[in-house]
Amino acid sequence: MNRLFKILYSPKYISEPFNQDVEMQTRRERITELLESTAFPMTAEEICERLDIKSRSIVYEDIDHVSKSVKRREKELLIRPASCGKCQFAFKPRKTSKAPSKCPKCRSQWILAPAFLIRQRK
Ligand SMILES: [Zn+2]
Repeated sequence: MNRLFKILYSPKYISEPFNQDVEMQTRRERITELLESTAFPMTAEEICERLDIKSRSIVYEDIDHVSKSVKRREKELLIRPASCGKCQFAFKPRKTSKAPSKCPKCRSQWILAPAFLIRQRK
């Protein structure tokens, strides 16, 4: 590898958007690996802690992508839906993986977050 090439492609010179893309890609791969190997469904909060991700909203967004990408590998994202901590109302699986903020039945805001797992499709 010649010198100029090395300089141009050193991390310092790689533009921001490219870096962010790579970072996002590896983060989603790590989430996928974690959810494939975990024995119990994991909430976004647990995923944040384990993988040192700053916010749950990042995880929810990633999970929406992960759920599509694992389908191509004969796997599926299984979701334990969110439920109300007060009246146990179980939320239906939603279009997005994000946790709802309020119970439609008793209006409580004590919501047990949804949890996720990836398994081989049967
Ligand atoms: Zn409720």
